[in-house]
Amino acid sequence: MSTSRRGLRVVVIGGGVGGLCLAQGLRKAGLDVSVYERDDSVRGRNQGYRLHISPEGERALRECLPDRAQALLTATANSRYGYGMAIYDEHLNAQPGPEITDPRANEVTKVDAVDRVTLRRVLLAGLDEVVHFGKRFTRHESRPDGKVVAHFADGTVATGDVLVAADGGNSLLRRAVGVRAEPRDLGVRTVFGRIPLAAELRRALPEVLQDRFTWVIGSDGHKLGLMPMAFRTRPAEAAARLWPGLDLGDSDDYFMSVFSMHRTATGMSDDEFLAMDGTALWEFVRERTADWHPDLRTVLRYADVAETFPVAVRATAPIELWEPGTVIPLGDAVHAMPPSGGVGANTAVRDAATLTRALLLADRAECSVAEASKQYQAEMLAYATEATAMSLQVAKWSLKRIDFDESVLAG
Ligand SMILES: Cc1cc2nc3c(=O)[nH]c(=O)nc-3n(C[C@H](O)[C@H](O)[C@H](O)COP(=O)(O)OP(=O)(O)OC[C@H]3O[C@@H](n4cnc5c(N)ncnc54)[C@H](O)[C@@H]3O)c2cc1C
Repeated sequence: MSTSRRGLRVVVIGGGVGGLCLAQGLRKAGLDVSVYERDDSVRGRNQGYRLHISPEGERALRECLPDRAQALLTATANSRYGYGMAIYDEHLNAQPGPEITDPRANEVTKVDAVDRVTLRRVLLAGLDEVVHFGKRFTRHESRPDGKVVAHFADGTVATGDVLVAADGGNSLLRRAVGVRAEPRDLGVRTVFGRIPLAAELRRALPEVLQDRFTWVIGSDGHKLGLMPMAFRTRPAEAAARLWPGLDLGDSDDYFMSVFSMHRTATGMSDDEFLAMDGTALWEFVRERTADWHPDLRTVLRYADVAETFPVAVRATAPIELWEPGTVIPLGDAVHAMPPSGGVGANTAVRDAATLTRALLLADRAECSVAEASKQYQAEMLAYATEATAMSLQVAKWSLKRIDFDESVLAG
């Protein structure tokens, strides 16, 4: 580290997508960073699904990750998506839909979707000394000497010059900076599932269902989304080739499935809906799709019940500003958005790249930490507000019946 650096120490609460990406970015920029995650290991619950990665998200990931981890990201990305979105009714009759274009359509190394567990492991690569699992943050204190101290449930503490709240949608720490708004319930209820793309299933399906992001809109308002995740290289094989010894886990190709409806259409109380296990959730979905096209019912038969979970869709809007200082929120902690837009994680990694740049200036003594926080806040507010608005429009569309309004995806 050059002598003109201040040697800022950054403590990050939360080792999710945003917190880990920030840790990679700060390390790459030569800052001292440590991450504290409450889960005992990398494999938390309900994480086995696919994440859409936007061009901006891919840029931010590449900005933060070292070359070797970027190579892993590219190798394990989805190789199929990128051919647009198809919309059908429940009898598989094609419906008019939006033209979705991606500027990366012809790039062979593009990263437009990843498996969430694999991404988290890529983000952890090389951070063994930096990330501490089994550390549940409970409270913080700001000391008169300007340092911030994080306290954990096991009685230990971590002290730094900056404390980052990357602790997700139910963030404890965001309140410390005066952000009071809690994410609001949008009324959309979804069953998220994972359907392994077994060879037998591949053979049984029309090609279009395998290659595209498909929405099936039932005449009764239920919606089924099927998003293929076909690894360019299986994670275990990619790790063996590019980072021998690294545990990237492994996975077959799969569909992520999303079955959504309005809260009032579940036919039960929210408590009951949210308490259903995978078996009950799939029974529920099969019952609601009993008269759907046989090809669709075939897909649903292959579902992995252990990887199925219910979600009540929530969002933070408008995004609440905070008093810039040494505690800085990032990702879902400050801007939760409905998964329907597919940009929450992308916005969290953009935050990580933006905050890395701002903290690097503070570390070089070109500005104070509070000024860095203010600069990050201004930039974040612009793109995160736009991302939230787009996600809300898609969520609104997902509550409608069959009448598709193209403007909902216009952003
Ligand atoms: C089903 C589903 C599908 C989605 N699909 C997409 C998609 O396609 N594209 C997209 O961009 N986004 C998607 N999202 C949104 C995306 O997952 C989130 O926006 C993203 O994970 C936010 O990252 P984060 O780092 O802010 O929070 P998280 O990833 O939630 O990480 C927060 C971390 O903080 C830890 N933590 C919480 N409290 C404490 C504590 N007290 N002490 C220590 N650690 C703590 C948690 O254990 C967790 O690891 C989806 C979300 C869901 C639910």
